[in-house]
Amino acid sequence: MYCSAGALLRLWFVASIESLRLPLSAMKRAFFKNIECYADASELELDEVLDQLAFDVRGLLPVITQDADTNDVLMLAWMNRTALTETLISGHVTYWSRSRNQLWVKGETSGHTQELVSLSIDCDGDAILCKVKQQGPACHTGRRHCFYLRVHREHRKIYVSEK
Ligand SMILES: [Zn+2]
Repeated sequence: MYCSAGALLRLWFVASIESLRLPLSAMKRAFFKNIECYADASELELDEVLDQLAFDVRGLLPVITQDADTNDVLMLAWMNRTALTETLISGHVTYWSRSRNQLWVKGETSGHTQELVSLSIDCDGDAILCKVKQQGPACHTGRRHCFYLRVHREHRKIYVSEK
């Protein structure tokens, strides 16, 4: 149903570029392009997909974290491969802190932990979505979520608002 008529052509393309030994980034893009046409409920091996993720030059992927109960978007942070692995093993969402340059188990000091409910990878393998059970506020300011600076286009102002 997500398959276009070009699916076969795409498979041919993937096979071709693999044989040409194009750069790893191109192969990774091709990997995700190839699975676009997989039917709903198709299965993939976790480790195989993790190996194809498009970590940036710093080795990081952006992570959007959402409240599993309300679907509110709570925050955006970063994971490296280790943080991702730790999150999947422990079930406690673990990020990479760019300011402290170290793994950051969310809530380890504040108690505002995030228990992982689900983790998804986007279509081209360059972003992660975590749905969590959030304890307390997600933002270090004590607010429920980080996106409290709301832009008002007509007024050309920003209003501080959690709603
Ligand atoms: Zn925040």
